[in-house]
Amino acid sequence: MKINVTRSSMPGFEEYIKEIEPLWESRWLTNMGEKHKELEGKLCDYLKVENVSLFTNGHLALEAAIASMGLSGEVITTPFTFASTTQAIVRNGLTPVFCDINPENYTIDVSKIEALITDKTCAIVPVHVYGNVCDVYGIEKIAKKYNLKVIYDAAHVFGVEFDERGIGGFGDASMFSFHATKVFNTIEGGCVTYGNDDLTKKLQIQKNFGMENAESYPEIAGNGKMNEFQAAMGLCNLRHVAGEIGKRKAAAEQYIERLEGIKGLTVWKPQDGVKHNYAYFPVLFDEKAFGKSRDEVAQMLGDNGIFARKYFYPLTSSFACYKGKFIIQSTPVAKKVAEQVLTLPLYADLTIDEVNSICDIILQ
Ligand SMILES: *Cc1c(COP(=O)(O)O)cnc(C)c1O
Repeated sequence: MKINVTRSSMPGFEEYIKEIEPLWESRWLTNMGEKHKELEGKLCDYLKVENVSLFTNGHLALEAAIASMGLSGEVITTPFTFASTTQAIVRNGLTPVFCDINPENYTIDVSKIEALITDKTCAIVPVHVYGNVCDVYGIEKIAKKYNLKVIYDAAHVFGVEFDERGIGGFGDASMFSFHATKVFNTIEGGCVTYGNDDLTKKLQIQKNFGMENAESYPEIAGNGKMNEFQAAMGLCNLRHVAGEIGKRKAAAEQYIERLEGIKGLTVWKPQDGVKHNYAYFPVLFDEKAFGKSRDEVAQMLGDNGIFARKYFYPLTSSFACYKGKFIIQSTPVAKKVAEQVLTLPLYADLTIDEVNSICDIILQ
């Protein structure tokens, strides 16, 4: 038996071949071609957002979203996330200010944001971590009061809805990742969703070398364009993603059934008013109450060919690359969660039998 933490969703081979066949005729392989246009339109519908701008990966989408806001100074964010979030802030020349997370769903603790605001604060970059939805209305209220931009790292929330709205419709912009390991993939890929039409041109310039037209370069920027083969993969995967999320849900519910209520375990649970995508299944292991540490459980699963991951350990605020560059705020809740968390395997093709085998090992 070998079970990884995730396994990429793929369309049938023939379906993909059929999707890319016209490219041999058009010879238009990248730079906003037919597949690219079609995918942007279909994603607007699926994600229930006004605008979608595609990128070659999620990280560059986030960097471009931040760059397009014309910010300088300090950005409030959380350290309990993938490296990408903090790196995107720092690579934009901005200073990250680390806010703690709440112990219920590990997103930014909104009650701790205001104490971190200074006259240099320009934006908040919260993370919908594990597919859990941030307190979007609480964040909106603070952003309005202090005139701050809000850019969500929405890498984990493809297809998630809150209050009957697409999650990408909150804040000034949201970044979704379409990496091979995510709920929906274009192999590598990502997008920015946003409401303000002014961002369309700004994001276009950001993904295309800072170019407005062939003779005008108003911005310093790199290359973030999604190619036609990626977009074709997206068009295929989009046809099946609702079904894939349904299968993830069944696996997640089986984990809850088996692990909920066990002493020393804190098991992922759905949030009220949220249509979830079951992107990850995090479990906290409290060594004192459970009898085994997170690392011991990970080792035991590994010995049985099951590869769970410590998402997200270590905290990004502890990275060597930031040492001595800025003040690192203390975030005790994030520190504790990072030390106790293990994300168990979860993907559409994970069978209920496999979930049961994983739970058997943990409960032993
Ligand atoms: C995957 C991920 C990203 C980056 O996305 P890529 O498409 O891999 O560049 C950013 N933030 C978080 C939280 C992620 O999990």
